[in-house]
Amino acid sequence: VLSISQEFDFFYFVQQWPGAYCDTKQSCCYPKTGKPSADFSIHGLWPNYNDGSWPSNCDPDSVFDKSQISDLISNMEKDWPSLSCPSSNGMRFWSHEWEKHGTCAESELDQREYFETTLKLKQKVNLLRILKNAGIEPDDGFYTLESISEAIKEGTGFTPGIECNRDSARNSQLYQVYMCVDTSGSNLIECPVLPRSKCGEQIQFPKF
Ligand code: 5GP
Ligand code: 5GP
Ligand code: 5GP
Repeated sequence: VLSISQEFDFFYFVQQWPGAYCDTKQSCCYPKTGKPSADFSIHGLWPNYNDGSWPSNCDPDSVFDKSQISDLISNMEKDWPSLSCPSSNGMRFWSHEWEKHGTCAESELDQREYFETTLKLKQKVNLLRILKNAGIEPDDGFYTLESISEAIKEGTGFTPGIECNRDSARNSQLYQVYMCVDTSGSNLIECPVLPRSKCGEQIQFPKF
């Protein structure tokens, strides 16, 4: 029997720093529910292969169905806001994440489990607290990529992938943090392969 959903090796659990999404040349739009809190938020839970490649859009028959997650919506609005323009209530972003990435993990997690599992990971990996404990805070200064990476390694036990982007003045800044998770979605693991970082040696952690 052919299975529609592809197997995969691990997940990237990806969190974004809203300050770095919003201060680029492209800027951003706050959700209709208002400016999100100054905390990391979820970008997604992405199935990946050990060689660095990844599957996408694995099951065109599995559409995003918000009735399966109605009781999760308030937590999603808080921890998984969409900052792209035009301003949205998150449904478009969540639907995109389910259809592009979530459908590739259907052998492990159904749609409800996929969103529930992702929200739980956000509770487990409190990046802002971890960085603050290490004296790393959103401000006007620069930090070494190494100090940020080390702090997250100390705080979680695992080496993160760090992705940078550039603010409108072209400074390199902390944009996304990738943690690796086993295929059940429940346990952090050491990354089999790290994403390309695009960071300078000195990076900003801008206010939001
Ligand atoms: P970007 O071009 O912004 O790095 O990535 C665009 C999109 O490609 C992301 O939103 C994500 O859906 C996908 N993507 C980029 N890098 C990875 C990766 O390493 N693994 C997976 N699974 N998806 C990725
Ligand atoms: P990916 O395809 O990389 O998983 O997700 C990126 C897509 O989600 C893009 O099409 C982007 O426009 C959309 N998107 C909506 N809201 C957000 C947001 O808050 N952050 C990011 N990075 N992408 C968002
Ligand atoms: P996507 O495939 O996610 O729509 O867009 C591709 C790239 O553009 C991603 O790297 C994403 O972060 C960025 N992007 C998309 N929409 C926005 C936006 O509204 N504001 C910002 N700053 N970046 C965006």
